[in-house]
Amino acid sequence: MGTMTAPLTATMSEPLVAPAAASKRGCLFCGTPLTHTFVDLGKSPLCESYLSARQLDTMEPFYPLHVYVCAECFLVQLKEYVSGEEIFSEYAYFSSYSDSWLAHARRYTEQMIDQLQLDRESQVIEVASNDGYLLQYFVERGIPALGIEPAANVAKVAVEKGVPTLVKFFGRDTARELVEEGTQADLLLGNNVLAQVPDINDFVAGLKIALAPRGVITIEFPHLMQLVANNQFDTIYHEHFSYFSWASAERIFAAHGLVLYDVEELPTHGGSLRIYARHEEDESKPLTARARALRQREVDAGLLSLEYYRSFASQVEATKRDLLDFLITAKRDGKRVVGYGAPGKGNTLLNYCGVRTDFLDFTVDRSPYKQGKFLPGTQIPIRHPDALREARPDYVLILPWNLRDEIRTQLDYVREWGGRLVVPIPRLEVLD
Ligand SMILES: [Zn+2]
Repeated sequence: MGTMTAPLTATMSEPLVAPAAASKRGCLFCGTPLTHTFVDLGKSPLCESYLSARQLDTMEPFYPLHVYVCAECFLVQLKEYVSGEEIFSEYAYFSSYSDSWLAHARRYTEQMIDQLQLDRESQVIEVASNDGYLLQYFVERGIPALGIEPAANVAKVAVEKGVPTLVKFFGRDTARELVEEGTQADLLLGNNVLAQVPDINDFVAGLKIALAPRGVITIEFPHLMQLVANNQFDTIYHEHFSYFSWASAERIFAAHGLVLYDVEELPTHGGSLRIYARHEEDESKPLTARARALRQREVDAGLLSLEYYRSFASQVEATKRDLLDFLITAKRDGKRVVGYGAPGKGNTLLNYCGVRTDFLDFTVDRSPYKQGKFLPGTQIPIRHPDALREARPDYVLILPWNLRDEIRTQLDYVREWGGRLVVPIPRLEVLD
C-alpha cells in the first residue's frame, strides 16, 4: 500500500510534532505555542452534562473555554482542557432524532451515488457513524457500507438497523486494521466529527490510509468564516476542540498527502462546508471553480492574517452587554422571561453571560431526556413545552437560534397573551 507511507508534503514549514506532545504543548496541528486569544468565554461545565435535582447541591466541574488561534497555521482551537474519553464515552446523542438532519443525510447519499457511480462493488465508510442515520440509505440501495463509532450504545442501534458498525475511535491504527482486512473506501465520509477530534494529525493520517487510490473523502464541518460573520460564539464548547476554515483544513490535509479539490456550502449548523479530498497522487480530480472562489473569499476576508481573529472578542463582549441590557430592563419593568430549548449552545451563552433563574424562570425542551433536569452551570430548570402556556411569559428567549423560523411557527400562540419572542444571536432581536 503506497498510500500508507506517503511522505509529508512541502506545504508544511515545520516538522510535525508528535501528537501527544502537541496537544499538551501547543497547536493541535503544528505544535506552535498558543499565545493569541480568539475569544475567552471564561469557565463552563461540559455542555451536555444536564443535572438531576439531586445534583444541584453538589460540586460541578467547570473547565476553561479559552479559544486560541495558532499564529503559524491559523487553526482556531481550544487547548485540550478535558480529555476526549471523558467527553465522549457516554455521549448520548442520537442523530436520527432530527427530521431535518435525516433529510440532509438522504439527499447526500443520493447525490454521492450519482456523482461517484457507487454500486454493489463499492465500499462506503463513515467515521463517527452514530446510529446509522446516514449509512442506512446506502444499505437500502445495496451499497456496502461500514460505520465506525466509538460509543457502544449508539453503535448497537446502527447494527440493529442493519448497518455494519465497528465500535472504535478512528485514527491510524483503526485505518491500518481495515486495510489489513482488505477494506478501503471509495467514499470515506465524516460529518461534524473533525472538530471533535483531539488528535487531528492521527485522524487525517487515518483518512489517508483508509482511502482507496481513486477514492473520495467528504467531510462536513461548521465554517469558521460563518461563525465569525454571524457571531456564533455560542457554538464553542469543550466538545469542539477546533474550528476550521477551508484554508486551515487544506493545510492539514496537505500535510498528510491529501488534496482538497471541491467544496459545497451548506446551511446546516449556521453555515457549514462540505469539503472533497483525494489522494495527492490522484490527478483525475482537478480543483473546481467553486473551491478556488471560496479560497479567495477567505483570503479577501482576512483569514490569513491575525487581525481577523483578534477583532472577534470585542464583538462577543458587545453581544453579552446587549443580552444583559435587555434582561435587566425587562426584569426592572416586572416582566417575566423564560427560555425555549436546552441545546449545548444555550449553555455556552447562559454561562458566559451569567444568566440564571434571576433572569430566566425556566426553559422548555421537547426532548423527554432533558425534561425535569437542569441546565449545567446555570441550574435553570427544563420543563415540558406545555409549561409555556401555563406561565404566559412576556418574553421567550430562543436558545437554538439556528431553528428560529421553525420555532417561530411553533410558538405562534405566545402572541395570544401578548408575549414576544427574542433571539440573542447574531444580534439581540425582539421578533414581531
Ligand atoms: Zn498551528
